[in-house]
Amino acid sequence: MIPFNKPFLSGKELEYIRDAVNSGKISGDGIFAQKCHRFFEEKYGFKKCLLTTSCTDALEMAALLINIQPGDEVIMPSYTFVSTANAFVLRGAAIVFADSSEDSPNLDVNAIEALITPKTKAIVPVHYAGMACQMDKIMDLANKYSLWVIEDAAQAIDSFYKDKPLGSIGHLAAFSFHETKNIISGEGGMLVVNDPALIERAEIIREKGTNRSAFFRGDVNKYGWVDIGSSFLPSEIIAAFLYAQLEQLEDIQKRRNYLWQRYWTGLEKIACASGVRLPKTIEGTTNNAHMFYLVCKDLQQRTTLLKLLKEAGVLAVFHYLSLHSSEFFKHKYKGGELYWSDFYTDRLVRLPLYYELTNTDQDYIIDNIINILSH
Ligand SMILES: *Cc1c(COP(=O)(O)O)cnc(C)c1O
Repeated sequence: MIPFNKPFLSGKELEYIRDAVNSGKISGDGIFAQKCHRFFEEKYGFKKCLLTTSCTDALEMAALLINIQPGDEVIMPSYTFVSTANAFVLRGAAIVFADSSEDSPNLDVNAIEALITPKTKAIVPVHYAGMACQMDKIMDLANKYSLWVIEDAAQAIDSFYKDKPLGSIGHLAAFSFHETKNIISGEGGMLVVNDPALIERAEIIREKGTNRSAFFRGDVNKYGWVDIGSSFLPSEIIAAFLYAQLEQLEDIQKRRNYLWQRYWTGLEKIACASGVRLPKTIEGTTNNAHMFYLVCKDLQQRTTLLKLLKEAGVLAVFHYLSLHSSEFFKHKYKGGELYWSDFYTDRLVRLPLYYELTNTDQDYIIDNIINILSH
């Protein structure tokens, strides 16, 4: 069986974990966390990076930081992972789901303005498959209506919008290092704080509502309870694992991009002939090879494709189910039909894509897809 995903190990993970353990400090924000923070701040120019135990946690921190109150409205796509919405629901927000666009599962930026009301507090664009949302238009709207922008950049490491790294554009951004992402630490995430006015409080919220981070830097001479917060920081064991991955980022990205291109070239013709759409990179945006997906022409074609691939030993999978029609949300949903969100819910297929996928296995996958789609 060719799995959908296989976590890649750079080889140094256990060595660095041993170093962390031997250092005598294994709680959060030790040497490895600092190395990870510095890596991101230097490579991508993020203002302030704070490792968290997941992207979900980083999104929950974001909701706390922008002071979401019961009844505040937050605009986001319905075609996304539950955490994008749940983090704000936890604070009592009313989620306003926007449709995806025709080109890609990303938020349709032209649908946003009509959803803005005096209660709107934030927009949460999700860079699906690591491909950028149209951030210029989103930031323009945010400026016009004084809204916060939180990028759900869970899938978007090392990807760009008009030469700006994703995660550097919104006031805040959340990344994931879950084992299904490009760079991993098992579970793990990071909050990026680009608005300097939010940095100090982000440190406090992450450290149980205390000013402990400032204390360890020597900025204050004692620390105590100064605000609300929780425990969002990961241990050094996770940071050590992550740093081993970050050192290999270029190599990982190179291999993933190579495999992504190979899928595209191998499937272009059959896609055209069978009414299947391949992902396209919109001008001014890059592809970080987080995911290779197909958009089938209808649900029946997808069901057949998934079933026959499975019989051939290939594990391809569908993706999100529109959140506005989820069991939790459908009775709360007050908006209209979200045509494109439901469209991708029924038609999208993700193909195996991981560092160790061999060219031979990939050829086998491509041949099977060609075979299935030509019948
Ligand atoms: C993976 C993912 C998350 C959640 O990440 P965790 O680190 O598992 O909490 C959130 N949003 C999107 C778009 C994701 O792909």
